[in-house]
Amino acid sequence: MIKHISHIGIAVKDLSAGITFYENLGLKLEGTEEVPSQKVKVAFFPCGDTRIELLCPTSDDSPIAKFIEKKGEGIQHIAFAVDDLPLALKEANELGINLIDKEPRPGAHHSDIAFLHPKSSLGVLIEFCQEHKED
Ligand code: ZN
Repeated sequence: MIKHISHIGIAVKDLSAGITFYENLGLKLEGTEEVPSQKVKVAFFPCGDTRIELLCPTSDDSPIAKFIEKKGEGIQHIAFAVDDLPLALKEANELGINLIDKEPRPGAHHSDIAFLHPKSSLGVLIEFCQEHKED
């Protein structure tokens, strides 16, 4: 059910410092987007089939603000691209994996996303991401 790694989410305190760092490594900024459902501003860098996504909190009660407070900056989640998100969630549930999101919710890039619980996935916060064609 998994096609490829859609993106790697990296929590940063300062979005423009993060953008400068990855631009200096030679990646090209594709754009930035605010995702109100997660209280983050996101910057995207395509890298093959995958994107690096820098996640910067827009509010102190953002899940990313809490992550940085507890663990510091760094890799926050890995997102796998799937064709059929509701089916992927159903299959994960049947495998006994705890789901943070039982239903898909809107993510960046016209996508629907859902998270699996890291306690069920060896400590890694895994996202399933179904990308839709842009309007
Ligand atoms: Zn993500």
